[in-house]
Amino acid sequence: MVFNKRNIAAYLLSRYLMLTGKVKQIKNRADKGEFILSVYFHDPDKKLFESCVRWFLNNGFSFISTNDLEAIAKKEKPFPKASVLFTVDDGWKGNKENIAEVANRYKIPVTIFASTQPIATGEAYWWSYIAEANKKGLVSQSVSELKKVANEERVKIVQAVRAKVPIQREALTVDELKEISADGLVSIESHTVTHPILITCSDEQSRFEILESKTILETWLQKKVKHFAYPNGLFTNREIKFLQEAGYTSAYTTVPEYITAESFRDMYRLPRFDVLETVSFAENICRMTGAWFDKPSLSAKG
Ligand SMILES: [Zn+2]
Repeated sequence: MVFNKRNIAAYLLSRYLMLTGKVKQIKNRADKGEFILSVYFHDPDKKLFESCVRWFLNNGFSFISTNDLEAIAKKEKPFPKASVLFTVDDGWKGNKENIAEVANRYKIPVTIFASTQPIATGEAYWWSYIAEANKKGLVSQSVSELKKVANEERVKIVQAVRAKVPIQREALTVDELKEISADGLVSIESHTVTHPILITCSDEQSRFEILESKTILETWLQKKVKHFAYPNGLFTNREIKFLQEAGYTSAYTTVPEYITAESFRDMYRLPRFDVLETVSFAENICRMTGAWFDKPSLSAKG
């Protein structure tokens, strides 16, 4: 945890939510099969990821995979009680040791949504170049500002600064991805080619990102890729159409809600709760269980 005012206040609020029974209430509802919890990570260290796995196991939860969720949606499997789905976005290098090793040791399914280009080329994720270039005064826009710029324009800006701020590989290698996939418990699914903000892309670019990432992963892994996670959770009906055309059967957003039987009406808008790498574990428990997203407002005036 990074110790700052926000995180300490959030820690205290999370302890309050736990002590007053909010998390327990949610667990009781999950035990009754009211909903499935779905959670996403990015690049957690091993201690954080393993703590999250252990918290759910100690609280009687079972882990389900993205394929299990699809089977549940199709009613090939019953709607489960006390179940959680773990997903991981981007394909960070640390995922092999911090996610895959833990998943295999605890024998739990996990899905990694990987962006293929950083894996194929060894280039860092585009926002890392911008953050570094911004620090050095080489580019005026921040990462969040560039996420709103037309994709073509953003790509040009990234290309112009990349050589000036060398960054080591941040993503898994193709061989690492293959090894992880071959172990069986971690499935690799798609998170586009270059991790653009899809809503800023032209039709052609958006379709390419969705289709090409699937083709590349299927060639590398010799497995069917059927599931997708939207970069930054941003999409429109256009992306859903491209996903359907490409043969994906489900897609995950970053909307922090429970997965219920209702959610299966639209398999391309499946919600997920986030885990943050910089906050207290108590806050992450509240985030993963959804308690955090339905908390009393404690914001004081003045
Ligand atoms: Zn991402």
